[in-house]
Amino acid sequence: MIALQKIEKRFGDTPILRGIDLTVHEGKVTALIGPSGSGKSTLLRCVNLLEIPQAGTLVLGDQRLDFRPGAPPPRRDVLAVRRQTGMVFQNFQLFPHRTVIENITEGLITVGQWPKEAARVRALELLERVGLAHKAEAWPASLSGGQQQRVAIARALAPSPRLLLCDEPTSALDPELAAEVVDVLAGLAREGMTMLMATHDLRLARRVADAVVFLDGGTFVEQGPPAELFARPTDPRTRRFVQTLL
Ligand code: ATP
Ligand code: MG
Repeated sequence: MIALQKIEKRFGDTPILRGIDLTVHEGKVTALIGPSGSGKSTLLRCVNLLEIPQAGTLVLGDQRLDFRPGAPPPRRDVLAVRRQTGMVFQNFQLFPHRTVIENITEGLITVGQWPKEAARVRALELLERVGLAHKAEAWPASLSGGQQQRVAIARALAPSPRLLLCDEPTSALDPELAAEVVDVLAGLAREGMTMLMATHDLRLARRVADAVVFLDGGTFVEQGPPAELFARPTDPRTRRFVQTLL
């Protein structure tokens, strides 16, 4: 199980997440929606501990971290959480001076201590999976945005994380290229990959998400299956926001 309990995050004196409770079920996809500044990216970053919350609890499989103000969790626990999460960013963030395959093998070799050959085999298998085996030796800049994002997904999946975090994975892409990325994410969802994604992309949320969570001002407002939450939001804040998406 992956759970956030009463997660609070402040930047300076400004509260950004005000006690978020959220359960992400294994094998399911949860989409976070909400206005700009509502805390979606911050929430994702709290899950892989790129940001450390001041209060609350994170449960990720066997790992349980209780956050206290001024008492960051032990480095060992932070690394254990990071090992179980992969992250995909809006702007791909590939290493520009590494080939496609090196983008995937780098972390396996340096962080995961994989032997080089095993890392190559794993990377090729993942490139195959995202339809880009023929681009293994290409430079990131020579790829389309959709291809770059598919490489970024392959890279995030390489160490077999328990949870894939995606922050607006399609919003930097034209609709046609976004569709390639949606196809890849839908395939992963079908195979039972657990995902938590922030997205404004209705097509992505409708096709891939099992649950949609609406955040507003750093608080959880409501949650439901995409068909219901988009068609019949109960909270007026959700209703207002959903109208801006349609
Ligand atoms: P968007 O839809 O625009 O991506 P979001 O829901 O992802 O928005 P966040 O990026 O999580 O929102 O930001 C929430 C709030 O936290 C914003 O007001 C932002 O300015 C603030 N914030 C985020 N990161 C930091 C930081 N490192 N230092 C200070 N404030 C920050
Ligand atoms: Mg964001």
